[in-house]
Parts: sequence; C-alpha cells; structure tokens
Amino acid sequence: MKIEVLGGAREVGGSCIAVETDSGKIALDYGTKLDGEVKKLPKDFDAVIISHAHLDHSGSLLSLSKENPLIIGSPITREVTGDLLRDMIKIQNEKGNFDFDNSQADNIDGCWHTSDSFAVHGMKIQLQSAGHVAGAKITTIQAEGKKVVYTGDFCFHDTEILQGCKYETIPKKPDVLISESTYGGKVRLPRNELIDQFLRQLRFTMKNRGNVLIPTFAFHRSQEMAKRIDTAIDAGVLPRYNVYTISNLANRITGYYNRNKQLFTKEIKQQNSPFNYRHVKHLYKTAQIQEPAIVICTSGFGHAGASLRLLAEWADNKNNSVILTSGYLPPDSPLKSAKENQCFKTAEGETISVKADVQQIELSGHADQLELIQLIAKVKPKRTFLVHGDIEQAEALSEKIQEMTDVCIPKEKEIISV
Ligand SMILES: [Zn+2]
Repeated sequence: MKIEVLGGAREVGGSCIAVETDSGKIALDYGTKLDGEVKKLPKDFDAVIISHAHLDHSGSLLSLSKENPLIIGSPITREVTGDLLRDMIKIQNEKGNFDFDNSQADNIDGCWHTSDSFAVHGMKIQLQSAGHVAGAKITTIQAEGKKVVYTGDFCFHDTEILQGCKYETIPKKPDVLISESTYGGKVRLPRNELIDQFLRQLRFTMKNRGNVLIPTFAFHRSQEMAKRIDTAIDAGVLPRYNVYTISNLANRITGYYNRNKQLFTKEIKQQNSPFNYRHVKHLYKTAQIQEPAIVICTSGFGHAGASLRLLAEWADNKNNSVILTSGYLPPDSPLKSAKENQCFKTAEGETISVKADVQQIELSGHADQLELIQLIAKVKPKRTFLVHGDIEQAEALSEKIQEMTDVCIPKEKEIISV
C-alpha cells in the first residue's frame, strides 16, 4: 500500500491524500486551497471519500465533474457540499472567473454514496462520527492486511449543539494514523471558560449599547453561534437585544439542521425545531439591521460580504466589538489585520483604522494539542502522519508524541510505502 499527501501537507487547505493498493486507489478528501483555488489533483481514483463539507476538504470535486466519480460521505455532507460548491461558483463568477458553472455542481450531487460502510476494489471503508461539524467523519480503510485511519478534522470535546468524537469508536492500533494537526502546538482554555469569556464580551458591549460583529462560516459555526445566543437570552443570561444572522446560505443550512436533528446533542434532539430561534432573526440585507445589534454573518475571515461591510462601518467606534471565534486566520484576512494592526483594507483599497474592541475567543471545532495527544495515547497507532497543520504546529505536536508513535510530517507529493 502507498500513501501520498497531495494537499494539506504542512499547511491548512487543499486537503487530499491518495491511498493506493495493487487493486484500487482512493482519495481521502478533495479540497480547495483556503483562497478558494481549485487544485489540479489526479483524477484516476476509484472513489473519493469526503470527510466533511468544508470546502478545503470538498471544493476541488468540481474539477472531477466529467469523471462522474464515486463520492462517499454522510448525507448532510452531500447536501451542504452541494450548496457550498454553488456558493463558491457564484463568488468566483462575480470575480470574473468562469471555470465552473452550476452544471458541474449538479453533476457532483448525483455521484454520492452516503453509507458509513463500503467496499471498493478490495478496500474496506468505514466511517465514524468525528465531532467538528455536523456530518464530519473519521475514515478507516482496511486493505492488503493493513489498517489506515484518517481523522479529517475532528474534536473530542462536545459543543452546545454537537457531540465530540468518541475515541471508543476509532479502530485501535492502526498501521497508520493520518491526523490533522491544525492546533498541534496549542492548548486551549476549557470550553466553559471560553463560553464565559464570549458571553462577558457580549454583555459588556450590550451595556454600552454597542454593535457586535461575529464573522462566521455559513456552515455549522453560524448555527452554533445563533443557538448559543438564543439559548442565553432565553435563560436570561443575556438581556434582550437585536440579534441577526445575515446569510442566505446559512439560512438554508439551518433548514437542513432542523430536518436532521438526530445528528446533534440529546438536548437538541428533544426540541421541536431546534434551530428556529426565538430571539435571533434572519435578515436578507445589512440595510435591515436595527442598531444596536449583534450580527452573525459571512464571510468567516472578513474577505467579503456582510462581515467586511459591517467591519468597515463599525470599526471606528470604540463601543463596538468584533468577536473572532476562529483560532486560524489566513495571513491576508482583513480580520487578522484589524486585530493585529488596528487597521485593514476595504474591497476598494481604502485603509480603515480600528477603534472597536477586536477579541479572539477560540470556540474551535478542532482538537487542541491535549486532544491530539489523547488521540495517540488511546488509538496507539504504529505510525502517525501529521497533515492539515502549519509546520510549526505539526512539529510542536510531533515533539509531544514521538515517544508513543513513529511520527512523520510528509511533504506534498511525498510517497510513503506502508
Ligand atoms: Zn473542517
């Protein structure tokens, strides 16, 4: 068996790993780079397994449209991937890039096999829940007497809406564990302390009648954030306030969440339409906002859309705040610049200085260093390949686990025999 990391080697973005035996070849994920670039990846796969719908794991599927690939993933991964691909095409077309249109996304929709257990060319494939986002899976491949486990993006910790991955479900002592390492060098505060910080920041700004901008991804983070604020207002933990989501894409995904509540926590399953919020309103346009307000909107990194517009509008007022809930921000992100340099550039190239309080509170859906070490300690892999993490993060993790497993941080296109 041979394993080749085709994307997501020593970086976050463009995840794709080829697993090849004498009789078959499978891709684990088929993602775009973080800037949305569709990667030129090999196309000769017998099946493509998509761990979850985030575009850095699924976006390059568009380039496979003519091949009618066999795509394996969970039902909600299929639904959300279709929507995210169409959204990506729309954004690219607006930029004048017409490489793809909706016909390719429609074609991809018809290529899925949504089962947790599958065999292709002598390779036995099994999927288990990974935490991270709704529908995310950990993949196990067994072939030629070898066992390979791929984490995709995962976390062990529970969030308010989703249970974390249960390590009992991950097959033990694999020959190779391919693990994400996004936060390989980082230990986060316990989740409840982060939530307290988040609610404190909201209360503080609400007291000053300021606006709060929460840039998020349309998929999962938006629903998690809206549900958290809705529940807090309902319980009297936060005062009543104007709270909005602005993203048609997020609104559509919220619909899937209501129809698939069996994917979520016990509390969510018991509610009727858990994602029909009582105190959070969906708006179509920023012009409909009644200030002061808390606004959850896209894009998650502030590159475009309502989040960039509201950042430009609200940055100048020290009573306003911006809450970044992602730990990772790409180097060219306006939000990163707003946080680190107290200024950023608008789409028109205007530089705006930032007086608003920009806080980063990492309510991440990824495992942190402690969870990653726990994964190695419980699963006991013979060899571990670290992917989906900047080299500093992967190296920091490697140092912590090298006495438990044989660690490798593969380079792109490095072929490793198993
Ligand atoms: Zn992800």
